[in-house]
Amino acid sequence: LDAELGKLRDLPAVTKDGTEISLLGNIEFPTEVPDALEKGAVGIGLYRTEFLYLSAEHEPTEEQQYDSYVETIRNLGGKPLTIRTLDLGADKIPESAELAAPMLNERNPFLGLRSIRLCLQNLPMFRTQLRAILRASAEGPVKIMFPLISSVMELRQAKMILQDVKEDLDDQDIPFAENIPVGMMIEVPSAALQAKTFSKEVDFFSIGTNDLIQYTVAVDRANERIANLYSAGHPAVIQLLKDVIRAADRSDTDVSLCGEMAGQPEFIMLLLGLGLRSFSMTPPAIPEVKRLIRSVSLDQCRRVARKAVGFDSDREVLNYLRDEVNKVM
Ligand code: PEP
Ligand code: MG
Repeated sequence: LDAELGKLRDLPAVTKDGTEISLLGNIEFPTEVPDALEKGAVGIGLYRTEFLYLSAEHEPTEEQQYDSYVETIRNLGGKPLTIRTLDLGADKIPESAELAAPMLNERNPFLGLRSIRLCLQNLPMFRTQLRAILRASAEGPVKIMFPLISSVMELRQAKMILQDVKEDLDDQDIPFAENIPVGMMIEVPSAALQAKTFSKEVDFFSIGTNDLIQYTVAVDRANERIANLYSAGHPAVIQLLKDVIRAADRSDTDVSLCGEMAGQPEFIMLLLGLGLRSFSMTPPAIPEVKRLIRSVSLDQCRRVARKAVGFDSDREVLNYLRDEVNKVM
């Protein structure tokens, strides 16, 4: 079976009826790129840059961040890279006391000062990272993505700061990609519900189901005592996914999904049927997902999606989706 999955690397991820699907990798460090390519990734859809912070003693400098991004770009050899700005806080607290200080002692860290919120309250840190990303964008195809956006004003503020940093670089004659695509994570229900509005403000969406699920069903994604309530098959989650993908389609906004769900075979037919054509996942999941994609037709997936959105509980959804996958794999 391993040999068979190995051969899959060089085959395209196309459905039986010939629709090409993008399978990308999620990474935390530049050194993970070769393995992602080995598994068949056509690019990196999510680079979680905060991992550089988690083990650092002091705030990484612009140069250190730039070096990491350029190393990632070089390792990709021309394949696309989506760099997500710092998603610190809540489940991602730095080991160093100095760096962790602003995000400690919150009553509800997942609802607190985390991610883009922390960046917008710490502009020197945010601007340093944006400069590093922009400078790296001169070296290869890079997109920039903001996490945890929950309101339009927050997105506009982030874009304004990006613009400001671009102007500084221009003034200093430092090269960068003028038209670097700017996107956002859809991982808060308020953003999912306002997807149509957001589609006018960004070049792409990436749906972060890990957080979207926890905020939709009010279940801490890291709390094992209530893990049974944390379910990607919850009908409310599926409804939000359906609406976001449709809003993206109607506005011609690129949309991908980079939560764990993208690498779980039982959800692939549903997501294809809802119209998703791009998935970013932990690299080891790519071969299996590709194999599944190559054995289904979009008509079949649309039928599965139509039926799946009609169930009342996650149990029914999951039972149905698992049955359908077992029929084709
Ligand atoms: C997500 O929330 O789905 C996501 C991809 O981001 P992270 O897991 O880093 O929060
Ligand atoms: Mg997230």
